[in-house]
Amino acid sequence: QDPVPADIEIAQSVTPTPITEIAKQLNISPADFESHGTTKAKVKLSVLDSLKDDPNGNYVVVAGITPTPLGEGKSTTTVGVCQALGAYLDKKVVTCIRQPSQGPTFGIKGGAAGGGYSQVIPMEEMNLHLTGDIHAITAANNLLAAAIDARMFHENTQSDAALFNRLCPAGKGGARSFAPVMHKRLKKLGITETDPDKLSTEERSKFARLDIDPETITWRRVLDTNDRFLRTITVGQAATEKGMTRTTGFDITVSSEIMAVLALTTSLPDMRERLGNMVIGNSKAGEPVTADDLGMGGALVVLMRDALNPTLMQTLEETPVLVHAGPFANIAHGNSSIVADQIGLKLVGPDGFVVTEAGFGADIGMEKFMNIKCRYSGLTPNCAVIVATVRALKMHGGGPPVTAGKPLDQTYRSENAELVKAGCCNLARHIANARAYGVPVVVAINKFATDTPAELDAVRTAALDAGAFDAVVCWHHARGGEGAKDLGEAVIKACQQPTQFEFLYPLDISIKEKIETIAKETYGAASVEYLPQAEKQIELYTRMGFAGLPICMAKTQYSFSADASAKGAPSGFVLPIRDVRASVGAGFLIPLVGDMMMMPGLPTRPCFYDIDIDPVSGRIVGLS
Ligand code: ADP
Repeated sequence: QDPVPADIEIAQSVTPTPITEIAKQLNISPADFESHGTTKAKVKLSVLDSLKDDPNGNYVVVAGITPTPLGEGKSTTTVGVCQALGAYLDKKVVTCIRQPSQGPTFGIKGGAAGGGYSQVIPMEEMNLHLTGDIHAITAANNLLAAAIDARMFHENTQSDAALFNRLCPAGKGGARSFAPVMHKRLKKLGITETDPDKLSTEERSKFARLDIDPETITWRRVLDTNDRFLRTITVGQAATEKGMTRTTGFDITVSSEIMAVLALTTSLPDMRERLGNMVIGNSKAGEPVTADDLGMGGALVVLMRDALNPTLMQTLEETPVLVHAGPFANIAHGNSSIVADQIGLKLVGPDGFVVTEAGFGADIGMEKFMNIKCRYSGLTPNCAVIVATVRALKMHGGGPPVTAGKPLDQTYRSENAELVKAGCCNLARHIANARAYGVPVVVAINKFATDTPAELDAVRTAALDAGAFDAVVCWHHARGGEGAKDLGEAVIKACQQPTQFEFLYPLDISIKEKIETIAKETYGAASVEYLPQAEKQIELYTRMGFAGLPICMAKTQYSFSADASAKGAPSGFVLPIRDVRASVGAGFLIPLVGDMMMMPGLPTRPCFYDIDIDPVSGRIVGLS
């Protein structure tokens, strides 16, 4: 249809197949999933029990060029190529995609279920609440935040003896014992005695007093809303807190460490371990304080138990989708979960395909896919797809800025192949970066109605010149899976090529060496500049023994550099590192590049202006 109707109209025009049928398509036994209504089901990790020795399917990662604020159709292409593989090319396929955050859905960019005739349905459910995983993360994160402030309050207002007696009260029959989680802390303190009554006074004090240094607390509260006024807040202002005020703040839930733990964990016991190991700050003596020190690992895993199971949904063409985890790629690691990919790879079998999406440009989403996600999963991709649009390449070639919510400049609506060619330096660098991992690269040229043959040709030529295995124009937004058949065929061929997977950096070099490798080799920087706070944190984390973790850069998605306005393929710049945070439980260090914010704000005219319920039909309208 021309023009293509709004995403929500297309999504609502198709009646979803019962989710039990989609599960049947993948041979998931009824014992291994739990339906949530008729269109969603939680797939249990037990599904892997009978499949663990089976061979994996082909593993495809979809990344993008440096995008405009409108998005270049990575989710749309991820869904489109799966519809092509599953509905037209007779392949078993699973799409692995992140759960959309309420931030963009109501803020600037809109939802993330794909678009046009390549979508996950029901798109309202995908974009709103889904099966509650993000809410569970918010609940778990904020319980830990509450526990930190409460613990400091109790330590401040009680003697060591009183604290110890309250932490280990007498149970039934009068005997006292340590809760199981406390044994971890005893071990950490080198205390071998397990009978509370036999501890010396000194040991009791050491055990009872975490002595958290409030200045070092890195654990913040989270909310899945773009609420800029919560970036910095003061807590403890009620009289009941006896003057224990403290400056802290909120981040968006999808940037939280618990979200990253969910995305990177491989099993329930592993998730329990990672949640317990999360470091919230230091003691005054400079030792890391963990969630388990606060007695919280068990409660956190209980809150997260159901969230560990990926949610099964479907595309517009009845192919299966696993929606799981939702970290942003700019301020977090940007990839859906390891467990969803693992389940998909077993379910599709050796001839099948799992297509998983890495957020934003390949400089951030794919870099983190390769160096963080693949490192923890042990999986390596057979092929990388890089999504490019004429629109974004024109912007990289020197076109005027593209702003969400404003009409596109005429440059983007009329032919200008020279501008496209000039912008292809951006695509070429992403291709070179992807090839450096030793995998074949297929460029998906996501066609918009205004693109001309000369412009599309320019992209294809530039992609092949830059070493892409293939470059294919695709029409899946307007035509669904049928429009991505060529892309599907190119992906099948690319997956038959040999790969020589290589990480960008080893783990056993210094934190600075890792940051510099990413900055120079992936971004094109000449050097890295560390602000005093970053220097301090690098020194601290090195001393604490966290230097062996991989790196998760928090950097703008709009440029290879820290300057969002530097388009194309900038080089020779200095990359400024403002601060470094540690997600020890999730397993990475986060250098904050330039002025990256962990809590987005709302624009003057957010998406929510368009969203409503039609009073007659009861349908949701305006979700994009
Ligand atoms: P990304 O995943 O790269 O952020 P999305 O797939 O979410 O981008 O697409 C962003 C928006 O652009 C969606 O509203 C989608 O419908 C629209 N879109 C994607 N591809 C096309 C296309 N070829 N033509 C028109 N609109 C498109």
